[in-house]
Amino acid sequence: MASSSQAEPLSKLDLHHVPDDKPVFACHKCSEVIALQDELVSKAFNGRSGRAYLMNTTFNTKLGKREQRRLLTGTHTVADLHCASCNAALGWHYITAPSSDQRYKEGEADEVSQLKD
Ligand SMILES: [Zn+2]
Repeated sequence: MASSSQAEPLSKLDLHHVPDDKPVFACHKCSEVIALQDELVSKAFNGRSGRAYLMNTTFNTKLGKREQRRLLTGTHTVADLHCASCNAALGWHYITAPSSDQRYKEGEADEVSQLKD
């Protein structure tokens, strides 16, 4: 008879895990890892709320509703970026790149202002 005592609890979310030796950025609220430092594009990006980090990609994040916003660099399609673990607002996700002379993979980038490293 198989015992059920070894059953692992199901995680409420399918979170991404990275090796401990990788430098990362984490959610300011719950410390969930949300990006690798390798994915950092700019530490001095001028975002909606002042200085922000611009990332190629993030993980353990989820997006709010897409909307068009007029920004200094033009009209962009963006979505709010939230921590997938604690739902804290982290920044924005650009569906179109923030500047046409900067090329991001698939034209997407994340502006993250609420994190710790
Ligand atoms: Zn969080």
